[in-house]
Amino acid sequence: MDCIFCAIIKKQIPADVVFENDRIAAFRDTNPQAPVHILIVPKKHITSLDTIDDADQAVLGEIQIVARDIARRERIAEIGYRLVVNCGIAAGQTVRHVHYHLLGGRKLLWPPG
Ligand code: AMP
Repeated sequence: MDCIFCAIIKKQIPADVVFENDRIAAFRDTNPQAPVHILIVPKKHITSLDTIDDADQAVLGEIQIVARDIARRERIAEIGYRLVVNCGIAAGQTVRHVHYHLLGGRKLLWPPG
């Protein structure tokens, strides 16, 4: 399977990893859209939100706890931040390994476009 995020998780290619445990990795986006832009991913390869199943419930919940903790550490929690998942072509998903964008450090517009 040719998945760039799996390659980062297996440390086959470099990334600026800010958090890791047995189930989850988080690393800085190489094309940041905000002063803080971190991707949080399950280590298990899941193609998109559309392919999650009941067994993924715990890790997907844990990702939000990880996001909260990273946001505090990056000092964006106080002013506010956004956690975004793009699912499928119309949403602009380009990497087919489910990932949560943690964005903050500037005023974020809504709707996102
Ligand atoms: P999406 O459009 O939701 O699929 O987001 C994919 C994100 O992955 C984009 O923001 C890319 O900049 C980011 N990205 C792609 N390759 C890498 C990489 N090797 N390391 C870190 N971020 C990456």
